[in-house]
Amino acid sequence: MAKNGEGCAIGIDLGTTYSCVAVWKETEDRIEIIQNEQGNKITPSFVAFTDDQRLIGDAAKNQAATNPENTVFDAKRLIGRKHSDPIIKNDMMLWPFKVIAGVDDKPMIVVKYHGKEKHLFVEEISSMVLTKMREIAEAYLESPVKNAVITVPAYFNDSQRKATIDAGTIAGLNVMRIINEPTAAAIAYGLEKRTNCEEERSIFIFDLGGGTFDVSLLTIKGKDFKVQATAGNTHLGGEDFDNRMVEYFVEEFKRKSKLDIAGNSKALRRLRSACERAKRTLSWTTCTTVEVDSLFQGIDFCFSITRARFEELNMNMFRECIETVDKCLNDAKMDKSSVHDVVLVGGSSRIPKVQELLQDFFKGKDLCKSINPDEAVAYGAAVQAALLSGGIKNVPNLVLSDVTPLSLGILVQVDIMSVVIPRNTTTPVKKTEGYTTDRDNLSRVLIEVYEGERARASDNSLLGSFVLSGIPPTPRGHPLDVCFAIDENGILSVSAKEKTNGSKNEITITNDKGRLSTEEIKRLIQEAQRFQAEDKKFLRKANAMNSLDDYIYKMKKSLKNDYINSKLSSEEKEKISSAITKATNLLDAGNNKPVEIEVLEDYVKELESMFKPIVGKIDLLFAFY
Ligand code: AMP
Repeated sequence: MAKNGEGCAIGIDLGTTYSCVAVWKETEDRIEIIQNEQGNKITPSFVAFTDDQRLIGDAAKNQAATNPENTVFDAKRLIGRKHSDPIIKNDMMLWPFKVIAGVDDKPMIVVKYHGKEKHLFVEEISSMVLTKMREIAEAYLESPVKNAVITVPAYFNDSQRKATIDAGTIAGLNVMRIINEPTAAAIAYGLEKRTNCEEERSIFIFDLGGGTFDVSLLTIKGKDFKVQATAGNTHLGGEDFDNRMVEYFVEEFKRKSKLDIAGNSKALRRLRSACERAKRTLSWTTCTTVEVDSLFQGIDFCFSITRARFEELNMNMFRECIETVDKCLNDAKMDKSSVHDVVLVGGSSRIPKVQELLQDFFKGKDLCKSINPDEAVAYGAAVQAALLSGGIKNVPNLVLSDVTPLSLGILVQVDIMSVVIPRNTTTPVKKTEGYTTDRDNLSRVLIEVYEGERARASDNSLLGSFVLSGIPPTPRGHPLDVCFAIDENGILSVSAKEKTNGSKNEITITNDKGRLSTEEIKRLIQEAQRFQAEDKKFLRKANAMNSLDDYIYKMKKSLKNDYINSKLSSEEKEKISSAITKATNLLDAGNNKPVEIEVLEDYVKELESMFKPIVGKIDLLFAFY
């Protein structure tokens, strides 16, 4: 909940490729999608490191081609996963930045910053993007922001959700709630349609973004937004379509020029950017050209691609999207003809073939494109943030209920997953299941918690484990209760207890595989503050250098100008010349680093006071000249 003095609560759509931030504008009773300093409503989820500074957003993406190894993106594809995850292994081959295995198999990103190698947790990278989004909101609101609702793909599992909350904490945010992206989009859609929603409406949200794919079936009635079922793939989206095009062109280039660019990260990065642009173009034309000057060994790259070829390259993934739609409707036990509206969300939902397949699946039904697919998720998150803040007038009152995307249970017998909470159960939920010991005189049992849909526990993902001890010596079959609870954020906690003669033993899941510890988070918060301090220092130095440069320019210009020159005394000219020399030397030294900011700032101040009268005279002369 927002506390007094903590300012407005914001909604953040933390995307794989782009992020977006929004806020409820109390003065106008509406949501504002906030523009960044470049005037864009979406900000690339990119972070870059150089010898001088850290860059986030557009600035990071813009320099990606020249600094590929130290430009990190796709953190959302890594978050909450293990380094040995086969999906990650595949991605790694395409990423120009290095990812290594850290403690507990956690992926660590390796970059060079200030000339030194630095290992970063994925949560840290995501926290940097979140910090940027917070700063964008703070600049717009002109006040500090602490509270936020962050969205995640509906299909994110427990560790991915927890890791996202940790990223928010490291960014210094109070994460009021994690909500699912399609549910947030449904809020945006539902509010627009509100007047027509007195009757129950079934809304199908199709959300195909840069890195993830989610579908959700909701019913909306009055203020109640109820998710009936959800399905998806946390590793399917626009980037995969880009990759297919890159792979295709790498082969074409090899065939034509006998050169292989596969191992050259700079060339691959430049080719990928060109492919992403071509992919967007193919959403409105049927043929386009991909051109990259001097792509590899001085050879220009110029190939054309048709929409048909692009579709052929990606058809299996497009079909997978439609299979997922079918699965979601089956889970909800709803016939496709009962769906009132099919709503498109996420940048990749603009792909004509995807729209065509979806429309065919829904038997020619018109697809709803009225909400902005890039902004709808942040919009919904901001409405939820305003509601959770409380006390804000005129925020549309709505009640959300979501579902858990994956089944949750424990290991029993040799390798069986016993489901306690089946997928698509409405959350928050608490459920207790009775089990018994399987051997005589067991004083302790290991409880292993799994998530997934496979019958064999080992085919699913192990979330964590804990030991329930203190069981009195009894024959096998001694009763135990295991309780699963999922909160509003979709986060799970598990406890177990055994009751004999009124005695009770209860333990909450502690061995949370792969999650950052409280100490680590504390350390990373301090590290984030250090990063920010360094960013500030860099900006201060850049400003001082800029002022010096400005002075040098003005002084030189004044000396070159005959009219002004004639109005300056020889003493003033002498002063200007020696100041130019000193300032130029300082600037050169500043560019080569060793000069302290204070030295630069002091000299700027010195110039200011020394030349105020002269500069005033020059400015005046310029004004008349
Ligand atoms: P999102 O995560 O929703 O911001 O979606 C970003 C993804 O949408 C990126 O992979 C973009 O390349 C993709 N995208 C944006 N516009 C288009 C378009 N017109 N056609 C195809 N893909 C697009």
